[in-house]
Amino acid sequence: MSLVVAKFGGTSVADFNAMSRCAAIVLANSATRLVVVSASSGVTNLLVELTQATVTDERRLQLLKQIAQIQYAILDKLERPQDVAAALDALLSRISVLSESLILNRSKAIMDELLSMGEQCSALLFSAVLRQQGAKSSSFDVRQVMRTDSHFGRAEPQIEDIAALARDFLQPLLERDIVVTQGFIGADAEGRTTTLGRGGSDYSAALLAEALRADAVEIWTDVAGIYTTDPRLAPNARPIAEISFNEAAEMATFGAKVLHPATILPAVRQQIQVFVGSSREPEKGGTWIRHQVDNPPIYRAVAVRRDQTLLNLHSLQMLHARGFLAETFATLARHKISVDLITTSEVNVSLTLDKTGSDSTGSGLLSEALLQELSQHCRVRVEDNLALVAIIGNRIASTPGICRQVFTVLENHNVRMICQGASPHNLCVLVAESEAAQVVKALHENLFEGQA
Ligand code: ADP
Ligand code: ASP
Ligand code: MG
Repeated sequence: MSLVVAKFGGTSVADFNAMSRCAAIVLANSATRLVVVSASSGVTNLLVELTQATVTDERRLQLLKQIAQIQYAILDKLERPQDVAAALDALLSRISVLSESLILNRSKAIMDELLSMGEQCSALLFSAVLRQQGAKSSSFDVRQVMRTDSHFGRAEPQIEDIAALARDFLQPLLERDIVVTQGFIGADAEGRTTTLGRGGSDYSAALLAEALRADAVEIWTDVAGIYTTDPRLAPNARPIAEISFNEAAEMATFGAKVLHPATILPAVRQQIQVFVGSSREPEKGGTWIRHQVDNPPIYRAVAVRRDQTLLNLHSLQMLHARGFLAETFATLARHKISVDLITTSEVNVSLTLDKTGSDSTGSGLLSEALLQELSQHCRVRVEDNLALVAIIGNRIASTPGICRQVFTVLENHNVRMICQGASPHNLCVLVAESEAAQVVKALHENLFEGQA
C-alpha cells in the first residue's frame, strides 16, 4: 500500500476554513494516512514573545488572550466542539502555567514545551475537522516517536530511534485512522519536549516519511510550489515544475523559506519524492522535488537569507603558520556554531554565521563566552545587518561568463564577500541587508526574465 505524508504549514491551518480546505486535500488521496501540522499562523510568534525575558505581566495576558482567540475561533466553528473543548482548554491552561513558570525559571526546557503548544493545539483541532468531513481520524502525540537530543531550541533528531519508535507506535495506527500529528516538536530520551528550530515542521514531515518509508511527502503551503525566487520579492517569479534534490537543498539552505533547510536530507536518504503546493489553490499544481530531473538549467533560482553576521578574525600568527584555522573551528564547534561561508587571506579569515538558523526562540549565536575565547588568539570584528544572496543552479563553477553577468547587475552595490567555486550549484554574495531586496530583484530580472 502506498503511503503519503502531507504537511500543512501555518497559513494552511490558520483558521477553520483553511483547515477545511486542507482536510479536502487529505481526503482526495486515499494514500494520505499521516498528516503533519504546524501551529496556526502567528501562534508560534506569540509563543516566542511569551518566552522573552522582557515580557511584562500585562503583555503576557494579552498574548495568552490572542492565542486563545485564534484557537477558540476554530473550535467554535466545529459541529461538535464538545468533543475537543476540554482537551483544548487543558492545552491553553498549560500555556498559561508554562509562561508563568518562566518568570522564575528561564529554563530552555520550559521554553521548548511552551513553543510546542501551537502545534499541539492545531493537531487536536485539525483531526476534529477531518472527522467532521467524515474521515476516521485521530491525533497522535509525535513526542512518542520524534526522539531528539536535548539541545533545546534546535534539537537534533535521532534517526534510528525515530524509525524504530515509528514502526512500533505509529505504523499500526495508520492502518486504522488518518493520523494527525505535530510538526516542529519532539522529545529527548527523558521525555522532555524539544523543538527542531523555526520552520521545522517541514523537517518533521520528511523525518516521519523516512521512518515509515513513505512514497511521497507533500508540503502544502501558501504558494503553488517553489518559485525562481520568493514571489513576494519579485512579482515575475515563476513556479518550477520539477527540481532536483540538490537544487532544492541549496535553495532551502540559502534561505528559500518555502522549505526548511533540513527537509531534503531524509528524502534523499530514502529516495522519497517531495511535492510542494498551495493548499489554497491545489488545482494549480506545484513543484516535484526528485532525485534527477531532465536538462537542469544553469540558473535555477535566487535565494536570500537575511540576518547574517560576518566574523572577521585577524591574526599575525596566521602568517606562514599552521593550525590557526583548526583552532578557530574547534572553538566554534565547542560553542555549537555552524560556520557558513569562509574566505581567507594571509592574516585574515572571514566567516559568515546564520542567525536565522539559530534556535526556536531566536536567541543570538554569538555569546560573550565565545567572543572572549576567540579574542584570546586573534582580533575579532563582528559585522551585522547583512544578507546573503545566492544564485542557485547547475555547472555554475564551470560555465564561462557567469561572473560577468552577475557582477554587471551588482555594479552599484557594495559586495562585502563573494563565495564561488566550491560548489557547482551556487554563487553567493554578501550585501547590506537594506539592499537585499533590490539585489534579488535585479538579479532575477537579468538572469530569469530574459534581459541579460
Ligand atoms: P508554511 O507556513 O506553509 O511553512 P512558509 O512561510 O514557511 O510557509 O513558506 C512559504 C513562503 O516561502 C512563501 O509565502 C514565500 O514568501 C516564501 N518563499 C521564499 N522563497 C521562495 C521560493 N523560491 N519559492 C516559493 N516561496 C518562497
Ligand atoms: N510553528 C513553527 C514555526 O512557526 C514550525 C513551522 O511552522 O514549521 O516556526
Ligand atoms: Mg515553513
